[in-house]
Formats: sequence, structure tokens, C-alpha cells
Amino acid sequence: MTNTANNTESSTASNTVKNTIKIQMKNIAKVFETEELETHALQDIDLTIYAGDYVSISGPSGCGKSTLLSILGLLDMPTDGEYFIEGINVTSLSLDEAAEIRNSKIGFIFQSFNLIDELSVFDNVALPLRYSSKKPNDAQITKRVNECLEMVGMSHRTSHKPNQLSGGQQQRIAIARALVADPAILLVDEPTGNLDSKSGDMVMEVLEELNNKGTTICMVTHDPRYADMAKRQLKLLDGAILQSPKVTGNARAAV
Ligand code: ADP
Ligand code: MG
Repeated sequence: MTNTANNTESSTASNTVKNTIKIQMKNIAKVFETEELETHALQDIDLTIYAGDYVSISGPSGCGKSTLLSILGLLDMPTDGEYFIEGINVTSLSLDEAAEIRNSKIGFIFQSFNLIDELSVFDNVALPLRYSSKKPNDAQITKRVNECLEMVGMSHRTSHKPNQLSGGQQQRIAIARALVADPAILLVDEPTGNLDSKSGDMVMEVLEELNNKGTTICMVTHDPRYADMAKRQLKLLDGAILQSPKVTGNARAAV
């Protein structure tokens, strides 16, 4: 067997997911430059994420996880390489164009739930639709918000304010909000970091159920138990992806 990174990735993925490519990164690098310091946060990142995929990214603090997720979510741009979302080359977009693609194609879930305290659960989840360029009407918004609240098991709490809910419930609302505009992919950064283990487990179950129904997920976690719940586990070290111990040795020697 030719044990290249690409073969390893595609053979693993073909067992688990459809072949439509949602996300493709080619030779992505990110260098942060300050007056005195150059930090090579990411190097030679080749990453393909398919429709229905569930990828976890883990690795030690400082290895580049958040930087990779920021670039995946168009919150930051790479210094080298090419990045495609649903076939669109997003590497050289203007800020406005990037924001448009981000709003329509990316759903974010963060460690801190980032809900708006003054708005009801319903209005928090509806927010991305109200800013959507597709301009759905009120009936369409209501239908879609209720669908998404149902998917995360929170349709009985539409009128509550976020601070009337537990942390786990708030994270489920944040997941509904991330889903509502039907993004190409959910990007998830340490979703259980602010939760006790029982609530954390419930949030992970919601993500697993969504993935079983077809939602594409890429999640950063440092918890090996949660990383194992994904269909594919990627490990980052010093800004590079380790595919397997054998490929790792070659990859590191080549850098
Ligand atoms: P992780 O999320 O895995 O802990 P990060 O992606 O946050 O790692 O950081 C990767 C590397 O890039 C680290 O060495 C970090 O110090 C550096 N880094 C991250 N963001 C910046 C920035 N804005 N300016 C300079 N260096 C940064
Ligand atoms: Mg981080």
C-alpha cells in the first residue's frame, strides 16, 4: 500500500462519507509576523472534508488548532496555499466577499456560547436568517427556527432568555443558531470547555445525531474521548497534520 497522506485520507473517508467535497485546503500555511518574531503557526496543511464527514482536530496547546479553525471559518486568511469551500476558491476574497461566504456557508460553535442575553431563544436562533441575503419571510423563519430547535431538543424553550437556561441548554441553542442557515459545515471549537461532564456529553450526543442525519462537522477538542466520537481524527503538531505514525515520520523529515 502506498502510504501517502492523501491515500490515507481518501481511503478512510470513502468508508464513512459521501464523495462530495465540502472543504479543500491545499498547502495552507500561516505565518504570524511581529516586529521581532515570525511564528509559523501552520505549514503544508492538506485537508479535504466531505459531505457528511465528522472530523476532529486535536493536539497540544499552541499547535495551531485555533488558527486552522479561524482560516476554515474565513475569520483569518492563510499566508500561503489555496482554500476552497464547496468549490469556490476563497483564498483571495475581499473582506466583504469573505463575510458573505462566511454568513451563508459556515456555522460556528464556540466554547463560550455567544448568545445575546436580551433576545429570546427563538430570536437568537433566528438572527442569522434575519441577516441572510436570501431574505426569508417570517413564516419561513418560524418554520426553520422551530425545525432547528427540535433537532437539538430545545423546542420547549423558545420564549426563554439564555440566562434562564443551563450551560448545556445554551450550547444546544448555539448549535441550533449555527445550523439555521443550512451551512456547508459546522466549525466547532472546544464545545464542552465551559460545561460539566454530563452537559458536555449531551452536547456531544447532539453533534453526533446531527452528523448521523448528514451535517458536516469539523471540531477542535483536546478531550481524547470526544475526539474519538468523530469519524476521522486529525492530530496537529507544530502546525502540521500527522496522518499516522508512519506517515508522520516521513512528513516530519520532509519539512
Ligand atoms: P492552539 O489553538 O492549538 O493552542 P493557536 O492556533 O492559538 O494554537 O496558535 C498557534 C501558534 O501561533 C502559537 O505559537 C501561537 O502563539 C501563535 N499565534 C496565534 N495567533 C497569533 C497572533 N495573532 N499573532 C502571533 N502569533 C500567534
Ligand atoms: Mg486554541
